[in-house]
Amino acid sequence: MRGKKIINRKNMSITKNIKKFSEPDYVYIPLISYNNTSFDVKVKISDYVLKGQILAISDDKFSFPIHSSVSGTVKGIEKHSYIDNTLIDTIVIENDFLEKEKKIGSVKKINNYSIEEVLELLKNAGVVGMSGTNYPTYYKYGTELKINTLIVNAVEAESYITSDFTILNSKTSEILETIDALLEIFNINECIIAVKDFNKKAVDDLIQYIGSYTKIKIRSVPDSYTMGWDKYLVKYLLNLDVKNNTIEKSVLVNNVSTIYSIYEALKHRKPIIERIVTFSGEGIKKPQNVLVKVGTKVSDVIKFIGGTKKGNYIAIINGPMMGKMVDDDVIITKNTTGVIILKESTDKEIECINCGKCTNICPVRLAPVLIMDNQNNEKILNKLNPKKCIECGLCSYICPSKIKLRDIVISSKEKVGDK
Ligand code: SF4
Ligand code: SF4
Repeated sequence: MRGKKIINRKNMSITKNIKKFSEPDYVYIPLISYNNTSFDVKVKISDYVLKGQILAISDDKFSFPIHSSVSGTVKGIEKHSYIDNTLIDTIVIENDFLEKEKKIGSVKKINNYSIEEVLELLKNAGVVGMSGTNYPTYYKYGTELKINTLIVNAVEAESYITSDFTILNSKTSEILETIDALLEIFNINECIIAVKDFNKKAVDDLIQYIGSYTKIKIRSVPDSYTMGWDKYLVKYLLNLDVKNNTIEKSVLVNNVSTIYSIYEALKHRKPIIERIVTFSGEGIKKPQNVLVKVGTKVSDVIKFIGGTKKGNYIAIINGPMMGKMVDDDVIITKNTTGVIILKESTDKEIECINCGKCTNICPVRLAPVLIMDNQNNEKILNKLNPKKCIECGLCSYICPSKIKLRDIVISSKEKVGDK
């Protein structure tokens, strides 16, 4: 397996307590579910909405309802930056800070639900892949194939991000309870919780709690980027080669923060309207993890936790390896794992020296240098298969000429019609 130990800056943001930011004056609820941005909006200007109320629905195959994260008044629809830097529609709500919630019907013990009930609850609560994928979880569990193994991915490959680490440490018993229920309901043989060697505390905590959960194991994996990638995890933990999707090998992989969202949906029938986000990087005064409402502006959270240091800094969402540089206008979504404030790089990009390092490191065996050289030749570009790129960023990280190869490969993907 190809990979590289990358700089580890996780210790910066690990604190004892998690701050909660529930006072944004306005939230900007993004109208997006997976790749779908076409919604039937169910509220109008001046409507009063409750926290957890459905604001919009869609009949897209991968869709789920969009909920309000605050109680307050609808002010309109505005475009704001999404994590990939595109502009998307958001419903603007003025927060009244009363946190008035929708009444929730009776709830069962979480392992007493049927498969159909779980899928319905996950869909209604808008549970998605919280590691950045935004893929609807009900769709994943709705597979007709047998699931033999559930892998709970707590590897958290990016260097600064510790939101999964934080949730695993602060909600250990809830996470184990949820996994146990999922194993029972979906008749899954076993679960492996994968953590990085680095995360020794999480392993010790899990061992303490694991007691009678005989079907749940913990495995630590090497501190090598891109070990958190599903296919590598399945290879490392089960020695199985995945071609397309892990389910072809009867394995379902869920991120640990997603497991906690499943807990909230099943135990409390809560829609996913907040999440833990890491705010870190050399440019931030007080790096930490913060519980933030979906739709909060990143700039509001940064102000709340003490702001940034003086100097030329850039904001990168979801980590320096896989994330994107964003502006102040960007909003927190369900798939925002972290916001990293870093010094603007002064490294100058120079000409390729044909060292071949980018090709040798690529986990999906692409040749980024050739993709760069043939960006404008669609016929050759197609043969070089850029759509296989998993956007891990290793090629840019390793390149001695500081060429932004990842960006080049991603735009080549678009050229051959992948996006
Ligand atoms: S080409 Fe894509 S998959 Fe390969 S190293 Fe670069 S970013 Fe990662
Ligand atoms: S790593 Fe950079 S310098 Fe080396 S071959 Fe690839 S693009 Fe060229």
